[in-house]
Amino acid sequence: MPTSIGHALAGAAAAWGADLVPGDRAWRTAPAAASWYRRAGDGLTVACAALGALPDADLLIHAHRTYTHSVGAVIFVGIVATVWASAKPANAKRPIARVALMCAAAYGTHLLLDYLAIDRVPPLGIQALWPFTRTWYISGWDLFLQTERRHFFSLATLWINTRAALQELLILAPITLAIWLIRVKALAGLAPELPRGDHPPQ
Ligand SMILES: [Zn+2]
Repeated sequence: MPTSIGHALAGAAAAWGADLVPGDRAWRTAPAAASWYRRAGDGLTVACAALGALPDADLLIHAHRTYTHSVGAVIFVGIVATVWASAKPANAKRPIARVALMCAAAYGTHLLLDYLAIDRVPPLGIQALWPFTRTWYISGWDLFLQTERRHFFSLATLWINTRAALQELLILAPITLAIWLIRVKALAGLAPELPRGDHPPQ
């Protein structure tokens, strides 16, 4: 199963990927002079990165890779995001369907990465189709290396996880970079529309 670094990167990539879906995209733009944080989509992109890594918090409740790693959980995240996006503060612009898609897709990347990864701890894989079935699924493609969570700060564990994280970056960073570049290009034309909804501090 991949590290949180790989999962967070995939979550951010999902957020930027959702920005490519045609529709109301101007609210995700920022002028070229804005900070990197704003240009990257600020708090919502950070939230999507966190959602990409969130399913593994199930280690704390001893339910690892079960319902937390399922389409049921993805739908739940989409519903929560819908409720959050619907509760708009006065001047916030949040297209509800797009926010729901971003958050659900970010969470969904976690399932995909785990499905494609090596797993040597039975039962292998994830309960991807809960609540419809509790069957465990794994691709067998072994695309991402096995990580280690026991003796977390031992040298051996640190080495295993560093190696896994580097390999995840090797695969995911080029994909994320490509999505980022396409996003920048796609949103560039929309940026001039921003001042209409932008309220600079008085
Ligand atoms: Zn996981």
